[in-house]
Amino acid sequence: MISRDGDNPPGRRTPQQEVARLAELRAVHEAFAWFRANSRELEDLQLELTAVPSPPWGEAARAEWLRGRFEELDLAEVQMDDLGNVFGVLPGSDPNAPLVALSAHLDTVFPAGTPIQVSREGGKLYGPGISDNGAGLVALLAIARVLKETGIEHATPVVFIGNVGEEGEGDLRGMRHIFEQPRWADAIRTMVVVDGAGTDTVICEALGSRRYEITVRGSGGHSWSDFGIPNPVVALARIIDRFTQTTVPTNPKTTYNIGTVEGGTSVNSIPQSATMRVDTRSASVEQLDRLERALREAVQDGTAATSGKKKNGLTAEVRVIGDRPAAELPSESRLLKMIRAVDAQLNNSARLQRASTDANIPLSLGREAIAIGAGGSGGGAHTVNEWYDAAGRDLGLKRILLLTLALSGVPEE
Ligand SMILES: [Zn+2]
Repeated sequence: MISRDGDNPPGRRTPQQEVARLAELRAVHEAFAWFRANSRELEDLQLELTAVPSPPWGEAARAEWLRGRFEELDLAEVQMDDLGNVFGVLPGSDPNAPLVALSAHLDTVFPAGTPIQVSREGGKLYGPGISDNGAGLVALLAIARVLKETGIEHATPVVFIGNVGEEGEGDLRGMRHIFEQPRWADAIRTMVVVDGAGTDTVICEALGSRRYEITVRGSGGHSWSDFGIPNPVVALARIIDRFTQTTVPTNPKTTYNIGTVEGGTSVNSIPQSATMRVDTRSASVEQLDRLERALREAVQDGTAATSGKKKNGLTAEVRVIGDRPAAELPSESRLLKMIRAVDAQLNNSARLQRASTDANIPLSLGREAIAIGAGGSGGGAHTVNEWYDAAGRDLGLKRILLLTLALSGVPEE
């Protein structure tokens, strides 16, 4: 009979064999037990952090809160950058090795002043942002805590990051800024983004999106006495009509949406301006480029057709208000093999998915990155009735822990 070791000498294990070895370490068993024994404490932590408001562009209070927790955990290099991203490093046995990063976004979608009430009712936690991304932030703290307490030896350092600006018009500014700082950009080779609840997906393709605000302006006037002056609302209607005749492929799936239209002052005024906001999405950069060209052409043609040869002609402005790069994790990447192996080890089934997350940024820079959930379940995301159910959280935490150890590397005992 041929032994396993004979087939795969140390250091040459398959990802599946490596993950199986890690899952059997005594310290890993201790960590798993810690997740179960401290579920109530993790819920309390989640309620506490959700009660700290973190509106878009106003994450400072929650960032301070997280920095405090990182300091309590005695992580190294605890710091906040000028945008409010918070960092803490758990050194590995090989201090010069590239970093494995675990990140979770700090921001919520709720504007400043939204009343934040958190509660625990019938086994569920309630509060705006409790799951997205309270669950992710708690996962980071739980992983840091067990790695510290069990003293599992791992090779490459792990950096824990709470970042700003993930949601909506934050436009991934926090993650962009992290990869503009040499300390992090040069050292982070692999990034695992923890966002929301669940264990059933691996987001490994970055859905790209570009968003535009188009404003058409004119002199405006009185509906009766100035009749005939070019009307910005009419120009916008023409632009929309032209642009929406653009065809898009189903594969790669590519979409567009006219989200908002505004303009004019009263029923008897020729408007001075009209504005619309357009969202385009695709996994393909070429398709996003193509849609952008079509939109700019439609703006030019629709404006010119409305202005005609008249003086008091219209002007149009196209402003890019969002740009999230499209990218994809190569199927032969180590990260993808490792998360597949971890899921097999834990009997967890997860679908590969495409979405727009913080992982877009490292992926677009050629780093290995995925986004996964923190375990448990959640609902009502982006509403004040958001909830989180911690049943099954420990599966999510086991998954993140095994993945982190597999990526970092654990020396033979
Ligand atoms: Zn989120």
